[in-house]
Amino acid sequence: MKTIFDIPDLKNKKVLLRVDFDVPIKKLEVGGRGLEIVEGFRIKKQKEMIDWLVERGAKVVMIAHLHEDDGSFGELIPQLLILLGREVGFIKKVEDIEGYLANYPGVGLLDNIRNFPGEKENDPEFAKRLAAAGSPELVEGSKGFDIYVNNDFAVSHRNHASVSAITEFLPSYAGLLVKEEVTGLQKAIDSPKAGKVVIIGGAKAETKVPVIKNFVGKAELILLGGVVANDVLKARGQDMGDSVVDENYQELLVGLDINDPRLLVPEDFVVFDNKILDIGEKTIQKYADAVSRASVVIWNGPMGLFESSSFATGTQKIAEAVAESVAYKIIGGGDTMAAISKFRNIDMSKFNFISTGGGAMLAFLAGNKLSGLEALGYYNRE
Ligand code: ADP
Ligand code: MG
Repeated sequence: MKTIFDIPDLKNKKVLLRVDFDVPIKKLEVGGRGLEIVEGFRIKKQKEMIDWLVERGAKVVMIAHLHEDDGSFGELIPQLLILLGREVGFIKKVEDIEGYLANYPGVGLLDNIRNFPGEKENDPEFAKRLAAAGSPELVEGSKGFDIYVNNDFAVSHRNHASVSAITEFLPSYAGLLVKEEVTGLQKAIDSPKAGKVVIIGGAKAETKVPVIKNFVGKAELILLGGVVANDVLKARGQDMGDSVVDENYQELLVGLDINDPRLLVPEDFVVFDNKILDIGEKTIQKYADAVSRASVVIWNGPMGLFESSSFATGTQKIAEAVAESVAYKIIGGGDTMAAISKFRNIDMSKFNFISTGGGAMLAFLAGNKLSGLEALGYYNRE
C-alpha cells in the first residue's frame, strides 16, 4: 500500500484529502438555530495529517461526511478553527472546487460528501468530477487534483466514491491515520496465537460474530460479554429470561462452534428485572486472570449495560485488568471508549493502540477485505 511517505514532492500539489469529521453534533438550544460539535476528538485526530501536507506546500481540499445524511458542515466551520488551529474555507458545491483552488486561500472543506448524488453509489462519473476539482471535463492533470490521500480509516469499509472509485482517477495514498490503524490492527491479527486473548462484548452481534469467527482459530482465548455472550448462551440452551438476545442469533452463529473450548462465556451475572445486565464476580475474576497472563489483548465491546453505574462494574474491572496487563493492548469501539472514559481511574496511555475505526475496525479484525484499502493496493501484498 502506498502511503504519503511515497509521494515524491508536495510543493504546490493539489491534494484531495479524505478525512474523518463524523463527530456527534447537536442543535444549539439557545435560539434554536445552528449546530454544535458535542465531541471533536475525531476532527482533532486529523490535524496532524493536514499540518503535514500544508507544511510541505500542498494545497489541500478536504472531503468528509456527516452521518446525519442531510447535515451540512456550513455551520460547523467556525468550530473547526478551534479544533484544527487553522481557518478552513467552506466549499458548498463540487463545481466550486476549481475556483477555490485557483484563488487558494488555505485548506478547504467540501460540504457533506454524502449529500452529493453518486457518493454512496461509488459512481465513477462522480469520482471523476471530484478528481477534476468539479471541472466539467477532466483535462489531463491540468485542472484537477494531483493526488488523493485517504486519511479516514473509519470509512474505509464503505464502497463509496470518495473512498474507492476516486482512486481510479488520481495517484492515491494512505494517510498517517490509515497507515497507523492498519499497522496496529494487522499486528493484532499476525501476533502469535499463544498468549493472544480477544475480548468481545457489546451489542450489534452481526458485526461482532465475524470477528469471533476469525479469531477462534487465531487466539488462545476469546472472552465474551454483553449481548454477544447472551446469544451464545441462548444457543447453548440456557434460559435467558428477559435478557436481550438477538432474534436471529441462530443465523448469526452459523459457522461458529459455540462449544469451542477457547470460547469463554460468563458463568455468573448481575440480573435485574429478569435481565442479564452485567457479568458477575466469578466471571470478572476469570477474565481478569486470563488477561493478566496474556501477551496480546484485543478488546472491543462493553461487558454489560455500562450506561447505568449499577451495571458498569464488569466493564470497569475488565478495563482495569486490561490496562494493568503487561500485554500489548489494542482497544476500540465507540461505546467501549465511552465506557472507559467514564471510569476516571483508567489511564488511557496504558493502551498500546486505540482504534478509532468502529465498524471498519471490526470488519478488518473479521478478516474482511476493506474496499477503501483494496483501492489503495493493501491486499496486493504477497
Ligand atoms: P462498541 O461501540 O464498543 O463496539 P457496541 O455498540 O457493540 O459497542 O455495544 C455497546 C452497547 O451494548 C451498550 O449500549 C451497552 O449498554 C450494550 N450492552 C452491553 N451488554 C448488555 C446487556 N447485557 N444487555 C443489554 N445491553 C447491553
Ligand atoms: Mg457502539
